[in-house]
Amino acid sequence: VARGEQILKVSEATKKFGGLTAVNAVNFGVKSGEIVALIGPNGAGKSTTFNLITGVLALSSGTVSFAGQVISGIGQQRIAELGVARTFQHVKLLPDMSVLENVALGGHLRGRKGLLSALLRLDRREEAALFAEAARQIERVGLAEHMHKPAGSLALGQQRIVEIARALTMNPSLLLLDEPAAGLRHFEKGQLSQLLSQLRSEGMSLLLVEHDMGFVMGLTDHIVVLDFGTKIAEGPPDVIRKHPAVLEAYLGG
Ligand code: ADP
Ligand code: MG
Repeated sequence: VARGEQILKVSEATKKFGGLTAVNAVNFGVKSGEIVALIGPNGAGKSTTFNLITGVLALSSGTVSFAGQVISGIGQQRIAELGVARTFQHVKLLPDMSVLENVALGGHLRGRKGLLSALLRLDRREEAALFAEAARQIERVGLAEHMHKPAGSLALGQQRIVEIARALTMNPSLLLLDEPAAGLRHFEKGQLSQLLSQLRSEGMSLLLVEHDMGFVMGLTDHIVVLDFGTKIAEGPPDVIRKHPAVLEAYLGG
């Protein structure tokens, strides 16, 4: 997908949980090389939208397309293989294992035993390739000096970046981040923001769910605002900042 062209398209996406419509006929897109934020109060449907895009949840109706192909219904694994990677709202690293091991084994990793059995399934060449790629991504995100430390010994901001490195080993063209700045200290937010800008300049497209308005306003190209599962506004940061419906949703009008 050429820079500036639409890489992700969410069309009339709807998700019902019993009687609750968590996401209601939502439309938006992400252009290649752009950072888009999905914002909105708690319970607005942001994480559910992520889960619809990544195939964790099935849509009740509507479609999601990636690079011109409908991806809704093709399954999480296929969607990831096509180039959509994500991080989760809560850190999912294994604290006793090294940064390198966490990044290399990614989703396969379920503790030491899981690591062992994952490694046993690989031949030496595959294993070496996996660790080399992990090291490359750790360097890319600026954590080379921490590679061999236990992941749990790093500051929260660095752990978030380890998770991003882990997602990058999938070689995604679209990266989804669920509340990447949550709980971070001011300077850590600055570092994270710088990393995400760097990824954008390398041609990656990013979609993030974020609560921290300052973080979002300084970083993103486009903002989509959800409230009670419905899109209430979208536009560039300076428009959204002053948008009456957004102010009302946030300040509880
Ligand atoms: P956000 O991420 O914007 O805070 P969510 O997408 O997590 O919001 O949730 C949107 C709404 O859907 C909320 O009312 C939430 O309680 C509900 N919800 C989310 N996941 C489920 C689920 N698996 N089953 C039932 N209701 C859910
Ligand atoms: Mg959420």
